[in-house]
Amino acid sequence: MNIFKPLDLSKDTQKPDTESIEKVRCLIIGSGPAGYTAAIYASRANLKPVLYTGLQMGGQLTTTTEVDNYPGYPDGITGPDMMEDFKKQAERFGTEIRFGIATKVDFSGKTHKVTIDENKIVEADAVIIATGATAKYLGLEAESRYSGMGVSACATCDGFFYKGKDVAVVGGGDTAAEEATYLAGLCRKVYLIVRRNVLRASKAMQDKVMKTSNIEILWEHQAIDLFGDNGVEGAVLIKKKGTPQEEIIKVKIDGFFLAIGHTPNSEVFREFIETNETGYIKTMPGSSKTSIPGVFAAGDVQDPVYRQAVTAAGSGCMAAIDAERYLSEKKN
Ligand SMILES: Cc1cc2nc3c(=O)[nH]c(=O)nc-3n(C[C@H](O)[C@H](O)[C@H](O)COP(=O)(O)OP(=O)(O)OC[C@H]3O[C@@H](n4cnc5c(N)ncnc54)[C@H](O)[C@@H]3O)c2cc1C
Repeated sequence: MNIFKPLDLSKDTQKPDTESIEKVRCLIIGSGPAGYTAAIYASRANLKPVLYTGLQMGGQLTTTTEVDNYPGYPDGITGPDMMEDFKKQAERFGTEIRFGIATKVDFSGKTHKVTIDENKIVEADAVIIATGATAKYLGLEAESRYSGMGVSACATCDGFFYKGKDVAVVGGGDTAAEEATYLAGLCRKVYLIVRRNVLRASKAMQDKVMKTSNIEILWEHQAIDLFGDNGVEGAVLIKKKGTPQEEIIKVKIDGFFLAIGHTPNSEVFREFIETNETGYIKTMPGSSKTSIPGVFAAGDVQDPVYRQAVTAAGSGCMAAIDAERYLSEKKN
């Protein structure tokens, strides 16, 4: 089944500086669980992968202290330590890991050209995109002040740490409704902070939220600050902002969860690769194949649903296997 539209190859989007073109068999973009896992498999398959780390070497997990749900670490592990283990394992089989950012691509030809740091062009027979996604925050100074101390953008990852406690979820869409009901199964009380007087979530999700007795919806509220000495102890909210009934209130909470969406890091590829309406790279069901033969996508950049380290790693494995099969078919 081909779920992709034919590509318009007529545009000349990149003028390579032939002096600085390097040819590689397999190029991996991104150094999170998806990129490093793809690297482990690709290097063991002798694809001699070159991996560019991007700005955030090790990916999103390097911003968290505790990872308790990754199989194989019975006592848990810190995110940076876990990603260092991934990196060492990829290096052990010969992956060449380089610091650099993919700033432009040209997937219109037989080989795929990726510009690194705006000056070096790498030409690859197969490309694995593993550039992840970035959680959206409200932009409050308090979010960074309490980062890892009560502020989270992932209920599945961090909800367990708030078992029996009171938390707040910010958002009014499906993700917020899902995260609120998930947390309601663990926490004593969940405040759902909704900016408007309606939820954007689907009718089914709204019904679920309404039927959950320990979720309280705070309609027309916006979070403006957090407080607490050694971590989040509460949130400051503004109610009915800009109306005569405007009021500042405080709620006591131990955890503050953002559920206002993610931005997939796919912008640089969008001219060539099909994405969905929110920018997630489309892959063929059950595979890592994108709309361009020889270009594969793994991890959060193609996953609006699960966004977990273990699913990212699993899809990184799929991408390397798909790349290996693509390259061996191309050779024959
Ligand atoms: C605070 C926090 C805590 C979390 N805790 C958990 C947890 O406990 N358990 C769990 O399973 N999941 C957790 N997650 C989710 C998990 O981190 C992600 O699902 C996972 O990291 C996704 O892996 P990835 O490889 O797809 O992308 P990422 O980890 O996002 O890595 C993306 C990589 O791509 C690189 N990159 C981006 N753009 C470019 C570019 N243009 N050129 C080159 N490189 C680029 C970045 O530098 C980065 O290395 C957490 C997430 C956060 C933010």
